[in-house]
Amino acid sequence: MADELFFLLRPEFPAPTPMYGRRPMGEGTGDIESLFSHFLSLSHDHRLTPKKVIDLVLPEVLAKLSRFDGTRLGWGWDKNAGKEMIGSGHVAERWSTILSSATGQTGLQLATMVPLAAHVYGDMTTDQDRVCHQCLGDDEAQGRLPYGRLLWRMKCVACCPTHRCALVTPVCGRPPDTTKRQFLRVKLAGVCSDCGSIGHRCNTAKAPIASADEVWRAEQCRRMITAFPAIEASDPAQLPQRIKEYCAEPGSLTSLALRSGATISVLSRWINQPGARLTFDQILDICGTEGLELAALLQGRIEKTDSFGTPVAPKRIRRVVRPANHEAIRTALKAAVETGDSVTSVAERLRVDIATLAQHADLYAEVRMATRNRKAASDTARQDAAIAKAEGVAIKLLRDGRRLTPRNAKGKGAYFYPSTVEWTVLALIRIGLGDRSVRHPTSAVRMSDAFLSKIEAAARRVRATFGETQAMLLLDYR
Ligand SMILES: [Zn+2]
Ligand SMILES: [Zn+2]
Repeated sequence: MADELFFLLRPEFPAPTPMYGRRPMGEGTGDIESLFSHFLSLSHDHRLTPKKVIDLVLPEVLAKLSRFDGTRLGWGWDKNAGKEMIGSGHVAERWSTILSSATGQTGLQLATMVPLAAHVYGDMTTDQDRVCHQCLGDDEAQGRLPYGRLLWRMKCVACCPTHRCALVTPVCGRPPDTTKRQFLRVKLAGVCSDCGSIGHRCNTAKAPIASADEVWRAEQCRRMITAFPAIEASDPAQLPQRIKEYCAEPGSLTSLALRSGATISVLSRWINQPGARLTFDQILDICGTEGLELAALLQGRIEKTDSFGTPVAPKRIRRVVRPANHEAIRTALKAAVETGDSVTSVAERLRVDIATLAQHADLYAEVRMATRNRKAASDTARQDAAIAKAEGVAIKLLRDGRRLTPRNAKGKGAYFYPSTVEWTVLALIRIGLGDRSVRHPTSAVRMSDAFLSKIEAAARRVRATFGETQAMLLLDYR
């Protein structure tokens, strides 16, 4: 408290932070360092392992973030190469807040996908680290430590837009016997965690050349990352509004959907329902087929891209609706009447929906009726079995002059479990025999009239076997 007062009274001294402040590398460009790589670099600057920072430094920061909702750091922070730390969700948002408080640096969310959170949805980041070997080489040539770009972790980006080669998962290429493996090796983006080679030079495999479409996508994403501050500040409602205007002509929404591989209902819901979001991949596909600039569209502007030749094929693949084989459907429905399959199981087997089956109204109704009849028959069989069991036990117990309780039934080797239909039937038989100590079972309300009259008949048979005098035994509670 005292030192906080000191900095209030002496504003020329900035408040101290537990950690030295550093900016993400490549800041302000599409090659900004990912927050995960930034955190590793930050720890490295402090001569601490990331684990030490999490265990010793950050808890103090968390405690100061008073409005904090009990976030715990620790295990799992680097799961999937820090995927959650760089995504668009609340975990990434918290991490940027925590690291901001720890270092006094703001704007760290620009090293994550958080700036897109209000505009699009979807899982945009990869589960694995990926690198461009040539970019790492450039880092070294320019006299800085190699670092991991946010761009490289975007799922839809398959290549490096600068070097036009595929991004690769870094694996150590050194033969195991020549590797100086170390258990406590420093964890740093761009450094091989197996052999410690800076810039992953241990892996000499040449990355494949990327296609023009891939390069276009990667370049669009890089420009989008450059525009993150503007995108974050823009009104997300403008994006669907622009597409609505873009498709003002009758029928043009449908043709946009067809071109870009979107579902028409999803698109129209998106542009007409306030607050609806589209997946990021879908937006990118629309930009690809229409030749629109992704970064501009996300800010609510329609701009044609300059680097655009031919339309880029959508990456998302439309759900294939196969034409239904109606001959096969009729055959299957006819067979189902015989075998007793339900329409649901026929639909599953033929991979068609129920509505397609229902087009064959006659057979469909026949199968449904057959299913109903079979169900009724099996219900009847179950009811009869329950009555036979309860009736048999009732007769045995009365013969011995005992009360018709489930416990006594157990002595005769018959088990009646509460909530079973047998239990209810036994209770109803007792009531039918005049036992007033039995509460009316609630489940009996749901029984059909036919079932109840069969139980009544069973009670009458029991009474007839023992006669009215015997039945009086029931009322004799000892
Ligand atoms: Zn590169
Ligand atoms: Zn290596």
